[in-house]
Amino acid sequence: MIVADNEREPMATPTGARRFVRWSDVLGTSCRDLEGWELDPVDGDDPRTPEPGRSDTWLARLNPLQSAAGPWRSGGRPAHGIYCRPAAVDGLTDWAAAVDGCLIWRWSGPRMRWQSPLVSPWNPILAQARTLDDLGFRAPDLGDWNRFTAEAILSGRKPGGYFGIRPRRDMRRWVEAARTAGIVVQFHARGCWAYAAQPGTLGDHFDLPALATEYRRVLPAELAAEQVAELATLADLDLLTAAENHETYSVAIGGLALGYPPEVTAGLILARRHRAGHLPQALEYGAYCPSCRQPQLAAAVEDRGTR
Ligand SMILES: [Zn+2]
Repeated sequence: MIVADNEREPMATPTGARRFVRWSDVLGTSCRDLEGWELDPVDGDDPRTPEPGRSDTWLARLNPLQSAAGPWRSGGRPAHGIYCRPAAVDGLTDWAAAVDGCLIWRWSGPRMRWQSPLVSPWNPILAQARTLDDLGFRAPDLGDWNRFTAEAILSGRKPGGYFGIRPRRDMRRWVEAARTAGIVVQFHARGCWAYAAQPGTLGDHFDLPALATEYRRVLPAELAAEQVAELATLADLDLLTAAENHETYSVAIGGLALGYPPEVTAGLILARRHRAGHLPQALEYGAYCPSCRQPQLAAAVEDRGTR
């Protein structure tokens, strides 16, 4: 039996303890307005945005239980795209990615004035099919992350990445198309898995001095130093090497090689000390802590009170 949204039914958990569960939470059909969040104009025409599914019918607008979309609505329609709002912490912005009414990912960081066609918040999300843990079975199907990565690199929307395509003949077909397009490929594990990247160096594809200036603007000097130093010295590093060894470089270089927005990286650096107490957490949250449910700064930054 389905009960009204505000009624609660006690349910027995496997351990025998009784807890209250809202049917609407289980079904994911309680409509909630994305109050305070707005579509981020910066990402409005991002070609990586997933195709929206079916929008609500008139029946679903009358009865949310009829909707195939998730619970979040913006202007009456299922939320879809990259949304932002000022964070509760000064100087930070909250971001959320929504697909068909589901908030699938959250992150926070300082907004930066630096963009590249190879960089997008969808890159870390779709290249790993990342969804928030508490979405559970209600998470929308984000498709095959391997094929997203392969397609994004081939179409010039991601600098580099790691993926596998099966069967092997499909992988061979992709590699043929990629090599024709000038993409560089390094095979791993019996020819089905590979690192691939745009040809050329970091300096060929990115305005690194401008990015260093932005890191200096949004981070305290002591936190910006390592990132700025590598951005200044690694301009000649080829993208394939940077992608393959992304964990050995500073996060600014590692994130850039995979097409992560610098806002996520800067947020991550700001929250690093806080994260130590709340591991394991995905790097893709930036300064957002899913345990505390809000963005967090390193103690040193909070003390200075300058952000
Ligand atoms: Zn926390």
